[in-house]
Amino acid sequence: MDIFCLYPGAKRKAFTLSYDDGICQDRRLVALFNQYKVKATFNLNSGRQSYANGWTHACGLEIRHLPAEEIVALYAGHEVAVHTVNHPHLESLSPAEIIAEVRNDKRALEDRFGAVVEGMAYPFGTYDHRIPAILEKEGILYARTTKQTLDFSIPDEFYAWDSSCHHNYPGLLPLAQEFLSTDQELALFYVWGHSYEFDVDNNWDNMEDLLTLVSGKEDTWYATNLQICRYLTAMRELKVQGGKLVNPTNTPLWVEVDGEVQVI
Ligand SMILES: [Zn+2]
Repeated sequence: MDIFCLYPGAKRKAFTLSYDDGICQDRRLVALFNQYKVKATFNLNSGRQSYANGWTHACGLEIRHLPAEEIVALYAGHEVAVHTVNHPHLESLSPAEIIAEVRNDKRALEDRFGAVVEGMAYPFGTYDHRIPAILEKEGILYARTTKQTLDFSIPDEFYAWDSSCHHNYPGLLPLAQEFLSTDQELALFYVWGHSYEFDVDNNWDNMEDLLTLVSGKEDTWYATNLQICRYLTAMRELKVQGGKLVNPTNTPLWVEVDGEVQVI
């Protein structure tokens, strides 16, 4: 039996985005994502979500967090995920402090959005060996780092989910071209960043060029981080038993068996 795993709807690849810190430039970014019909995950610090919070970038640009009253409507149709309450270096905290940073952010976001929040991006991208087990206990299913793989691989370990690249990677558009022609099984193109960087670097065109290239493709699943995590986690449960494919989960799994598409 020749088995080739597919994404939902028999899509051969997936594209996702992840943006951090809930800042005012997300307004323009979300408008772009909606225009091109792609899905993203926004990682928010519930303790900072106020226009009064911000900082001045070295280039002189004032960077402000979005007011909490605005975020539910803004991020509609996308995923919101934990980025901790106060954006600390988690590895410098005690277990109790780590739990509070994660649990309280998750609860605050769940209260505001009226939805279960199960994703996370590590503040500064850093963590240590204690943290994945804490996240699992707190009901977090995955956490994104700030490392880039420069390929389309799916993570071995969802608490160490590296992106394909940051949007400022100089080879972003060549990598996007490569994605269009890859035939890798379960190819995933994952781009992350901070929306204020487009103002700092004056390169909103980069994102538009990327979205122009990768959006609207029949063979691509445009999904949030959580949708992809859940699907791939279920896919890992698929097994062959007595010459038959068995799916022990309640997620329908799409596969090509000897060249024929099946939903298991
Ligand atoms: Zn951050």
